[in-house]
Amino acid sequence: MREAVIDTMAITENVRHLRRLTDAEVIAVVKADGYGHGAVRSALAALAGGATRLGVADIGEALALRRAGIDAPVLAWLHAPGVSFAEAAVAGIELGISSFEQLLAASDAASGGRPVTVQLKLETGLGRNGLAPADLPRVFAEAARLERIGRLRVIGIFSHLSNTSADEDRAALARFQDALALAARHGLTPSLRHIAASHAAIDLPEARLGCVRIGIAMYGLSPFPDRTSASLGLRPAMSLRAAVAAVRRVPADQGVSYGYTHRTDTETTLALVPLGYADGVPRAASGGAAVRIGGATFPVAGRIAMDQFVVDVGDHPVAVGDEAMLFGDPTLGAPPVEAWADAAGTINYEIVTRIGPRVPRTAG
Ligand code: PLP
Repeated sequence: MREAVIDTMAITENVRHLRRLTDAEVIAVVKADGYGHGAVRSALAALAGGATRLGVADIGEALALRRAGIDAPVLAWLHAPGVSFAEAAVAGIELGISSFEQLLAASDAASGGRPVTVQLKLETGLGRNGLAPADLPRVFAEAARLERIGRLRVIGIFSHLSNTSADEDRAALARFQDALALAARHGLTPSLRHIAASHAAIDLPEARLGCVRIGIAMYGLSPFPDRTSASLGLRPAMSLRAAVAAVRRVPADQGVSYGYTHRTDTETTLALVPLGYADGVPRAASGGAAVRIGGATFPVAGRIAMDQFVVDVGDHPVAVGDEAMLFGDPTLGAPPVEAWADAAGTINYEIVTRIGPRVPRTAG
């Protein structure tokens, strides 16, 4: 047995909590298979908690939600060069527009007198995609014209923050507000304006603007390196666990796993956990991570391999079949996912998102 248990009720409650906290419309971000939790189940759980819209990176992700029968508004904002918007337009996907060329491509996808719904994505300092400030007059003018002739419907303008500091985010927010004023002078006054993801939605009230795009926090994880889920009123939705596959009593000075980066100090018991880096358990966490078995925490011994790793359980009575909990809800005694992220030199986002397809997701 190895599984990622997904507590969809936690997602629902996290969204409910964030709705109350922000008093804003929530776009639930379910890209990358719902940060590894399953896009469809995460979307449904978020909608049940009061999210009214969904956000994904690419059109393929948006279409998969439609195929699953989800008819809530879905925004897709990252497009491959030359991608066709036709199928997305037919499926009623909202297109995030980051260039003049994308604006024209969206307009070309209008058919049968039905305008294509778009949201304009502005670059306000993150240095990624989005309409550059210098392009805005031309883009706003053309968007307004295409709206007037019924080819486009501009329902939103949005941007994304770097979360570098409150000052940096406030400066980006000011650039966003200036761009909104310019859009209004071109006759574009869409009701949706959003710039805050989890970090700013929680910590920068002036960035909420009546609508926030929430990813990591809806999965119950903290966007802040120094604040726990519980301190934010959030409950982690994913627990990763496996049944101990083998137990072996070994003498002192036993080398463990590839390269013998660990040798036992004394006679001890080694337990084998059948999860490895092919499952998204980071090899870089070898030596720094720990798992919980039978109410006690034990360190990973030696290198994490592709399919398995070893835990030194000392003289504890661990048996084959016992549950090894890698991470979950710390308020229920599980190690926090952040312990794995710290051990691997990464962030909680990456750990949950990379849990691989070989690990079944089960309802918790
Ligand atoms: N909006 C955009 C454009 C994103 O790329 C992301 C995620 O990276 C989010 C919102 C959600 O961010 P978070 O998970 O920090 O809430």
